[in-house]
Amino acid sequence: MELYSGYINKLIEELAALPGIGSKSAQRLAFHLINMPQDRVKRLADTMVEAKANVRYCRECFTLTDKEVCPVCANQSRDHKTIMVVENARDLVAYEKTGRYEGVYHVLHGAISPMLGIGPGDIKLKELMERLRGDVQEVIIATNSSLEGETTAMYISKMIKPVGIRVTRIASGVPVGGDLEYIDEVTLLRALEGRVEL
Ligand code: ZN
Repeated sequence: MELYSGYINKLIEELAALPGIGSKSAQRLAFHLINMPQDRVKRLADTMVEAKANVRYCRECFTLTDKEVCPVCANQSRDHKTIMVVENARDLVAYEKTGRYEGVYHVLHGAISPMLGIGPGDIKLKELMERLRGDVQEVIIATNSSLEGETTAMYISKMIKPVGIRVTRIASGVPVGGDLEYIDEVTLLRALEGRVEL
């Protein structure tokens, strides 16, 4: 039995397919959208389409940006010889919010997970190695302290060691299994300052 109209069902289905949105939230959002003025719904839909069409990966660090090179990479006063490796763009933002990291980043867009079938070739590791051909002094591995994050950190460390570049890992002030983006700035800074050699 169709409880709602087909259009609403479809909308709920699409919303529920988004991460972190269960079927109850999807229903709530769907009804909210239906009750919104037409022009606001259109603005929201246009914003999504425009963002999708215009946002791309930074040529250098692979974070999401509107330009060819993101503002961090384009900033010449940053230390381009220090690269912090993070799993996603949200982690980059978390570290940027501390306002204390002077280096640049490398966004992997994921972590190695044999369980999910995500291998080294599925994240931006090749691109990282390519960057290391330039003038780089230190690579700070700031992947999450989850199993996947640690696996990725070990993999990167083994990959870089032969190149002779200093490799460090942020300290374990970051709770086990913790997502970087949810950790407060003080903890992030402590983890960065207490980083250890790998
Ligand atoms: Zn960049």
